[in-house]
Amino acid sequence: MHILDTSAFIHEYHTDEPTASIPLVREELEGEHAFRFDADEGAGMHIHIPAEGTVEKIGRAAVETGDANELSETDTRLLAAAFELDGVLVTDDYAMQNVAEHLGISVDVIARDGISEERAWIFQCAGCGREFDEHHERCPICGSELTRKNPN
Ligand SMILES: [Zn+2]
Repeated sequence: MHILDTSAFIHEYHTDEPTASIPLVREELEGEHAFRFDADEGAGMHIHIPAEGTVEKIGRAAVETGDANELSETDTRLLAAAFELDGVLVTDDYAMQNVAEHLGISVDVIARDGISEERAWIFQCAGCGREFDEHHERCPICGSELTRKNPN
């Protein structure tokens, strides 16, 4: 089972595997991309509603990886759907790939190169400028907010 992100419909991702998606993805799509979703649904795509408990589990995992601020409601619910269906998540979103990796969810990347291992983010304090390898709610030194930097 392949679980399709919004980007999968926009980039016209194709697979011969059974597919699934969630209602929030349909709401994000317009025009021909929305039509593609409807056509896929008509052809048997499974529309999945993940349990709230699973959605909360994904939310906690995103906090652990430092991706919580990057994930939309749609992203979180797609991850929950992929987790419940034990499927392959199809996305081009780095934060979703990172959380999926953390939870052992397989990812098929479209449009961009995926990450081969969990991404080691660097967190920089907006106040004192110190850098940290781990995510903190606040800078342990000065208490300011941390922002995530691309380590590359
Ligand atoms: Zn600081």
